[in-house]
Amino acid sequence: MNIAIDIDKDRLLSEIEELGSISEADPPVVTRIVFTPADLKARAWMEARCEEAGLTLREDAIGNTFARWNGSSSAAPVVGTGSHIDAIPNAGKYDGVVGVLGGLEAIRALQRSGFRPTHSIELLVFTSEEPTRFGIGCLGSRLLSGTLSPDVARKLTDKAGATVEEVRRQAGMLGELEQVKLPPSYHKAFVELHIEQGPLLEREKIPLGVVTEIAAPASFRITLEGAGGHAGGVLMLDRRDALCAAAELILAIENAARTSGAVDTVATVGICEVFPGAVNSIPSRVHLSVDIRDTDLQRRDAAIRSVEQASQAIAAQRQVTLHTELLNADAPARCAPEIIETLSESCRKYGFSFLPMVSRAYHDSLFMARIAPVAMLFIPCRNGYSHRPDEYASPEDIARGTLVLAETLAALSA
Ligand SMILES: [Zn+2]
Repeated sequence: MNIAIDIDKDRLLSEIEELGSISEADPPVVTRIVFTPADLKARAWMEARCEEAGLTLREDAIGNTFARWNGSSSAAPVVGTGSHIDAIPNAGKYDGVVGVLGGLEAIRALQRSGFRPTHSIELLVFTSEEPTRFGIGCLGSRLLSGTLSPDVARKLTDKAGATVEEVRRQAGMLGELEQVKLPPSYHKAFVELHIEQGPLLEREKIPLGVVTEIAAPASFRITLEGAGGHAGGVLMLDRRDALCAAAELILAIENAARTSGAVDTVATVGICEVFPGAVNSIPSRVHLSVDIRDTDLQRRDAAIRSVEQASQAIAAQRQVTLHTELLNADAPARCAPEIIETLSESCRKYGFSFLPMVSRAYHDSLFMARIAPVAMLFIPCRNGYSHRPDEYASPEDIARGTLVLAETLAALSA
């Protein structure tokens, strides 16, 4: 594009700080769980910023927010960008936010440059990318893409037993969830700017990552049930210790990833809850939360099957019962070659080097890929840290990512 794009770095950074201060915890800790007062306040603040920029706002029944800069061809498919502003407990201020406020600044910079889009450019702020409250990530984009049915979504509950249906209505989202799904022709392209959440860009000293594929996540909850008893009274031969069985299973899960034949297979047991949890009591029940991912669906599913086989063997040998509840098993996404090329071309125009890379974390783009051509742009984050208060991306990297995003949006919407 033959336009001069000037990113207002100071304004963008001060907005990131301001949004970071809307939190359930004291700064620098960001905690912003979906539909809590902090989340609702952050949404209102964000909508006000979009209105200042002259964008037309729309909110759907799950709270996905669309802020549109109308193109000259109003019927043409939309060029979308955006990310999320909800945050897990004890998080930082960049995850998601860089893509939302960077997306807004990219639009404002294009407005200032005199550029006028043919296709409308639309900023999308997704509801509940994080699974904290309802146990499933990307609630908003799953509904937008039809990956999750409204019936299933309505009945999801939080820890207090409140359903999505109740909570969203209390938050003022009164439409029908059936109307959230977007038609497949809605987007011409969708581009998400995000911090890498890994160490590669920093390690390689490359300022930008162009994502070519997004790994496929699966998560499930395993409950092992043995027999409790007094830690002194029950002799070892008579035990059916659920935690000892879980310990074997955790190592089997690690092994399933390590022996898959590819470095792209990763498996994690992030939660282990032990009942009754007393020093002198044999564990009778254990809940494990398991996360397995891969860029290759067959290999990911093979790892899951090998965990299932190990589970059965361990359960039989240790005489515990075992119940597995699959929470999600999503396919990986390949980014659209034409958007990858536009992003790459934008990097080259400014002389920025970039790394084609895999996104190992999943994002709303994983689900948007089912209804739209998508791609993602990564910027480095210090030490690869994310989902913690010391998460950090430098002003230069944020501005650079925003500039490349703006250039890309211009090229796609011209
Ligand atoms: Zn994120």
